[in-house]
Amino acid sequence: MEMTPSKTKQYIKEALKDDHLRTAVDKATQTALHKREDKVDQIPYWEDLRFKAYAVKQDVIEHLDQYLEEFEKNCKQNGIHVHWAADTEEAQKIIFDLVKEKNVKTIVKSKSLTTEEIHLNKFLIDKGIETLETDLGEYIVQLMDQIPSHLTAPALHLTRQDIGKLFQEKLGADYTEDPEELLQIARKKLRQKFLAADMGISGVNFAIADSGSFCVVENEANAHLTVSLPRIHLAVMGIEKLLPDKGALPVFLKLLAPSATGQKATSYVNFIGGPSSEKYNEGPKEVHILLLDNSRSKILADSRLRETLFCIRCGACLNICPVYQQVGGHAYGWVYMGPIGSTLIPQYLGLVEGKYAPFASSLCGACYEVCPVRINIPHHLLKLRNKVVEAGQSMKGEKMGIAVWAFLAKHPMLYRFATWFPAQLQKLLPGEMAFPAPGYAKERAIGRFDPKGFRKKLFKLEKDSKKSSE
Ligand code: SF4
Repeated sequence: MEMTPSKTKQYIKEALKDDHLRTAVDKATQTALHKREDKVDQIPYWEDLRFKAYAVKQDVIEHLDQYLEEFEKNCKQNGIHVHWAADTEEAQKIIFDLVKEKNVKTIVKSKSLTTEEIHLNKFLIDKGIETLETDLGEYIVQLMDQIPSHLTAPALHLTRQDIGKLFQEKLGADYTEDPEELLQIARKKLRQKFLAADMGISGVNFAIADSGSFCVVENEANAHLTVSLPRIHLAVMGIEKLLPDKGALPVFLKLLAPSATGQKATSYVNFIGGPSSEKYNEGPKEVHILLLDNSRSKILADSRLRETLFCIRCGACLNICPVYQQVGGHAYGWVYMGPIGSTLIPQYLGLVEGKYAPFASSLCGACYEVCPVRINIPHHLLKLRNKVVEAGQSMKGEKMGIAVWAFLAKHPMLYRFATWFPAQLQKLLPGEMAFPAPGYAKERAIGRFDPKGFRKKLFKLEKDSKKSSE
């Protein structure tokens, strides 16, 4: 399913009408939030960890060129083949050349947003290479020909019943909505594929510059099988995923699990430090890593926005976002969604295609409060809104609204009348009926205007506070 952020407005409208989707997203995000809160409450040094993680990421991103060179040198010493790709086309070409050279016919993949970014599945399948997702959520969305709707829970928009019907239709399984049985159906299908695959492809959660190794964090052991069973392993990594040394890793692992899945620790942390040696009868004989830029250097060049590269893709900002909670991930039209997606979309795809994304936020600041690496997302959204306006891409209605407000603000008498009048008009409405606001009120609950008006209330408040301080 091809999606584009330029159709975000249309996707949002569709999502708001879809009660089934909204119920599924609401339930999943609320559960995730409660689990996160519970675990975070058990870690008294949580805030210290966040500050430490920020400092590590700041150092890495400020010196990214040096860390990348160090990582490449150490990978090569460990026998890992290193490839560099500037963009999607180059990444696809490198991967396909490798696939052809090594006579790869089947590939198993573990969840990787970076490979979603370069449309790798579709590209390889179109070239005749069997490419199968093995993370349960990714497998489900692949069967549905959809993109993931969440950074860590790709099928979060679906219910058990949806998945039961999907497996019945696509896999010929008997209908069930029992999670354990659904899991067994998928497991049976996937096991054979792991054993037959020529190549395993994964993403990278964290790469360690001073040891030339990387790790993949997961809960289902599918990444472990992806890494260890096929004869060749390829990891696709965004260049920002580096840490300076193993000493920094525990900070991030401790932050990632509670933020992503509400767990104290993730079930599996797979380390890959090179091809397996002759004495071990498991593990890939060849390991490749593809370092992908794909606009990251552009983001790095902007000192005001490079903080967005600190993201560890935990998904906590999605779960807490009141916008994401209402519309889910597909409404954003791209692989990165929610508050962090709203900052990344215009930076990766440009201000024309990504012009709506920075506005899909109430700027409430909850994303900043939960972000384990303290990315000030609302701040970045404002900067990006500014960029959209400067690029002449702001919405017509908004431009008109601001022009009207600016006019009224320069004419105080008119301004007072404009803010007084709706409350008076409202008096003519029957009962508790809200002021009619066609369009605006279609998808929102609006209350009644306070007949006293904001100014009167403010002056009264000031007067009262003066009196009480005297
Ligand atoms: S911005 Fe922060 S909270 Fe959101 S996914 Fe990235 S690391 Fe997690």
